[in-house]
Amino acid sequence: MTAGWDHDVDVLVIGSGAGGMVAALTAHDRGARTLLIEKGDLYGGSSAKSGGGLWIPGNHLMREAGIADSVNDAMDYLKAVTRGREPEERLLAFVTQAPEMLRYLVDRTRFRPQCMPTYPDYYPDQPGWRGGGRGIESTYFDARPLGDDLLRMVTYTGTVMMGRYNVTLNDAHDMLWRNPGWAKNLLKVFGRYWFDLPWRFRSRRCRDLSAGAALVGSLRRSLMDRDLPLWLGTPARELVTEGGQVVGVVAEREGRALRIRARRGVILASGGFEANQALRERYLPQPTDAAWTVGNAGNTGDALSLGEAVGAKLNLMSSCCWMPVSPVPGWDSPASVLFERTLPGGYIVNRHGARFVNEALPYIDTVEGMYASNRPDAPTIPSYLVCDATFRRKYPFGPLLPSSAQPDWMVPRRLRSFMTKADTLDELARRIDVDAEGLKATAARVNEYARTGVDLDFRRGDGAYERFYGDPAVKPNPTLGPIATPPFYAMPIYPGDLGTTGGLETDVHAQVIAQQGGVIPGLHAVGNCSASAIAGTYPGPGSTLGPATTFAYIAARHLTSQ
Ligand SMILES: Cc1cc2nc3c(=O)[nH]c(=O)nc-3n(C[C@H](O)[C@H](O)[C@H](O)COP(=O)(O)OP(=O)(O)OC[C@H]3O[C@@H](n4cnc5c(N)ncnc54)[C@H](O)[C@@H]3O)c2cc1C
Repeated sequence: MTAGWDHDVDVLVIGSGAGGMVAALTAHDRGARTLLIEKGDLYGGSSAKSGGGLWIPGNHLMREAGIADSVNDAMDYLKAVTRGREPEERLLAFVTQAPEMLRYLVDRTRFRPQCMPTYPDYYPDQPGWRGGGRGIESTYFDARPLGDDLLRMVTYTGTVMMGRYNVTLNDAHDMLWRNPGWAKNLLKVFGRYWFDLPWRFRSRRCRDLSAGAALVGSLRRSLMDRDLPLWLGTPARELVTEGGQVVGVVAEREGRALRIRARRGVILASGGFEANQALRERYLPQPTDAAWTVGNAGNTGDALSLGEAVGAKLNLMSSCCWMPVSPVPGWDSPASVLFERTLPGGYIVNRHGARFVNEALPYIDTVEGMYASNRPDAPTIPSYLVCDATFRRKYPFGPLLPSSAQPDWMVPRRLRSFMTKADTLDELARRIDVDAEGLKATAARVNEYARTGVDLDFRRGDGAYERFYGDPAVKPNPTLGPIATPPFYAMPIYPGDLGTTGGLETDVHAQVIAQQGGVIPGLHAVGNCSASAIAGTYPGPGSTLGPATTFAYIAARHLTSQ
């Protein structure tokens, strides 16, 4: 041990989300003595809460599924979506390295992804667009080899069906639309859960992981396979420099400061600042509230102060992976309102009872529409998603299953305040403090649009993303249905997020850029603590995890090749 240090490694990775885990695995596999430290008592960060989609253009799974892609097409699409706000060389680094990163994970770790062949890129009007395949997700990961370590993974009720069952996005889509094989798959999900004895007596938690939990679970097990240490409850407090180079970290462990030397360097992967109210007020559009994020509670922007203290430059600080959300009593994060905005018959209205945005747009754009339309004389924060009994019978509604499976009388008492219910639109409007005449006029308009299939106000249902989340059985437009059958329902909608995407500016190798120009030697940053590599845009399913894991792979390779 070198004098003055308590611990000595080659590469130190800070933060145990997908970015941190991929960085640690890659560095280890290239021969570096690697340590991963995590501030919380649980590992996985927002990655473990997430849907676990990764956007990887040109990936081998889409090729195997017969979907062609090319570097040129992916670049055309990214350049169009990012509109010149990102250096082309960074986009190219992402496009060329992402498929290689995925291959590495499949060949060397326990991560077993599958293609999402029909989940389209989000902007069909742009050149190089693909109607599916660039988004991939994990298959089910059997968490038995994790043992009790599973109980130390962050979890989120919103991605667990009925608070118990894990379902992949591919299966959820089939189940929702009763595609061939859906019932068999559902029975398998129930069976695997209830036949998992004696674990059923130990924990409610399902050991068949899907989505972000499967991604993180498989990576966690891959760390264990290598005896690669993950220290929980160990926040990084300070970067240590020598002659302008980052050479280690002061972390806190069991109440005392611990000096960890990192001979090759430090990779910051400590997530965004979504849980930090002061930073939200400083950088994000207003109003803003940390209670509206679905992101990990430990993501308080620590990398910003750690980086700034050694001269790092920040960028894209108002960028966020926006998501309309609705608070659910008893949940520690709000519900992401993903399906309800696109399913036919759910419409979002402002205080005047008027629509102000195409509700079915990709989530980032819907929230941007909320902010753009928010005026003192017509507030949109909160706004309300309104629907009728037919919608409620057929589709999920926040934390509730369709009323055909979970009638209102079966909704647990603690969840009842989540929704407002009334026999008439007048009464519903009164209860949510929305103008009743405006709401009735909106209902009349959308009922006509549902009949003709054309939303004359916002062209809802024109886009491929919108139709992907619509109901294919509803004609002529799978995203448009009437508000006609009492009782009527409403849930409040806030401009929430899945995490901030601004942070430390980095180069093609994920090295942190200094305010004075040049890079800060020994310091890399990946994932949401770094400024988004795709200019804070969301081109397709998995647009934060795809770049986070890719630049984690790039950073670790770069550090270990020096
Ligand atoms: C419900 C939900 C669904 C989502 N679905 C998707 C999806 O399908 N596809 C997609 O691309 N994105 C999705 N996202 C967004 C995605 O999860 C995040 O963008 C991504 O997980 C960020 O990864 P990360 O590794 O940068 O950070 P995180 O996974 O958040 O990990 C950061 C970790 O760093 C730790 N940390 C913080 N400070 C310190 C410190 N000082 N010292 C040590 N550790 C520290 C944190 O506690 C945390 O564990 C979703 C998010 C949510 C919440």
